[in-house]
Amino acid sequence: MKIEVDTHAHTLVSGHAYNTIREMAQAASAAGLKGLALTEHAPEMPGSTNLFYFQNLKVVPREMYGVRLLLGTELNILDETGAVDLPRNVIRSLDLVIASIHILCFPENCTREAVTRAYIGAMENPYIDIIGHPDDGRFPVDYERLVKTAGRTGTLLEVNNSFLRPVGFRQNTKENAVEMLRLCKKHGVMVTLGTDSHVDATLGDYAYAEEVLREVDFPEELVANATYERLMSVLKHNRYVQGCCERSEQ
Ligand SMILES: [Zn+2]
Ligand SMILES: [Zn+2]
Repeated sequence: MKIEVDTHAHTLVSGHAYNTIREMAQAASAAGLKGLALTEHAPEMPGSTNLFYFQNLKVVPREMYGVRLLLGTELNILDETGAVDLPRNVIRSLDLVIASIHILCFPENCTREAVTRAYIGAMENPYIDIIGHPDDGRFPVDYERLVKTAGRTGTLLEVNNSFLRPVGFRQNTKENAVEMLRLCKKHGVMVTLGTDSHVDATLGDYAYAEEVLREVDFPEELVANATYERLMSVLKHNRYVQGCCERSEQ
């Protein structure tokens, strides 16, 4: 399967990644990508950047080395209401937004009900395009409700190549990804493939994600980032910020 846009990657400013924007764009170009989303960790992630970084992204060119850059963030979901760690007016101004649960930023030992509610709360936000690594077994989730809410709200569910690495420290990731993908296939809900690269060398490498997709015979037309045009046409951001569905809420 050809994937034209990597929807999840980090640069130096995330605090535990190792390349600049320019280096990442150059590597994306070499990997044959048409688009690259740089989704820096939002401020609650220890060692990441601050609010002003996200407010000033307008100064950065949106194309380098022939690669379209989508400059955004990976928000931290903070609690079971789905609250996140950047103000809504800033989230709205970005090109693409992921929201994820991370171990240092979410209460420990939450129930499946609490985690499911947290994801649903985030998906109700019109400017959150993608739920990052929802297959992380440390945060058990009701996949039926997750997938149905994703379909209703137009939020993409991520198949995260880094989390599927066999040497990973997460629990049941592959089993969870298979269950989620089977339900997405059944309900016609779209997913996106992200490498979650923290270094240039891994951009565009979806080997583990593709293995899981093959296992469930997942239809290519439900992979949002297979083409740049398809991704642009389904991002919630493009509907609510530039499109006709502008919401007045703040
Ligand atoms: Zn993450
Ligand atoms: Zn990430």
